[in-house]
Amino acid sequence: MKERAMEIHVNDQISVHLVGYMGDDLTIAMAAKVSTGVPQGSPDLTPEKVAGLIGYLMKHRHGTPFEHGAMTFLVRAPIFVWREHHRHRVGWSYNEESARYKQLQPEFWVPSPDRKIVPAPGHTSARPQFQAGTTEQNSLVRVALERSYSGAYSTYDALIKDGYAKEVARACLPVAIYSSCWTTCNPRSLMHFLSLRTHEDAAKFVSYPQAEIEQVARQYEEIFAKHWPVTHAAFVENGRVAP
Ligand SMILES: Cc1cc2nc3c(=O)[nH]c(=O)nc-3n(C[C@H](O)[C@H](O)[C@H](O)COP(=O)(O)OP(=O)(O)OC[C@H]3O[C@@H](n4cnc5c(N)ncnc54)[C@H](O)[C@@H]3O)c2cc1C
Repeated sequence: MKERAMEIHVNDQISVHLVGYMGDDLTIAMAAKVSTGVPQGSPDLTPEKVAGLIGYLMKHRHGTPFEHGAMTFLVRAPIFVWREHHRHRVGWSYNEESARYKQLQPEFWVPSPDRKIVPAPGHTSARPQFQAGTTEQNSLVRVALERSYSGAYSTYDALIKDGYAKEVARACLPVAIYSSCWTTCNPRSLMHFLSLRTHEDAAKFVSYPQAEIEQVARQYEEIFAKHWPVTHAAFVENGRVAP
């Protein structure tokens, strides 16, 4: 096998694009109203009534009306983020680019200069706390990671060029390599994701997610708040507990 040093690309970006969405706050209120009102929808649902009803549903955890709606995203993130994201099984659909059928791009995640990379005093796995590295530590980490990524990708590429199956060659790749997925969820499953994958001191159940999956969650949340503003406000108001 002839390995040659391959050019690799590194970055700290994690991107989320909204492919499309269906539904809004009114859809949720109308779905709830079917139990007592007009099945085809309730023409008397003023914005004030929608807000009142959604607040009531959220507070009392009547969750199913929040399943009426959908968001589809295109997300590009390192595989270590996907390992965490794919754990969300309920109300989520995934399609991912395949390392069996195509050669993955030589694109790898590195921490940004302001990413806290060193455990801080008091750090525990239940309450992880990190502090910024020194300039020297930041640079050492980056050099070490890039060296490792470059070696791994050179092996990967050489194996494929020598005719080995991509699904076998990929075994040498690190979890920092980027992969893309389409993800689809509904407002309820998204709120469950947000409650676990964002850190907010004011939340009823404070979570301590890894920073990189939180980057995905924060971008999801911005899109969700734009298209479901009343539902999002009620979620925040009720301590970020998914109904
Ligand atoms: C900060 C943090 C640290 C973590 N650390 C670890 C770790 O160290 N190791 C590890 O393996 N995972 C870890 N996880 C992942 C975690 O265990 C969950 O897999 C992940 O958060 C998805 O949550 P979920 O199961 O509630 O979501 P979903 O799979 O989307 O499920 C949503 C809800 O549906 C219900 N549900 C789903 N499946 C079942 C079922 N089979 N039976 C009964 N009810 C069900 C539950 O009410 C569940 O909350 C961590 C998650 C976080 C946020």
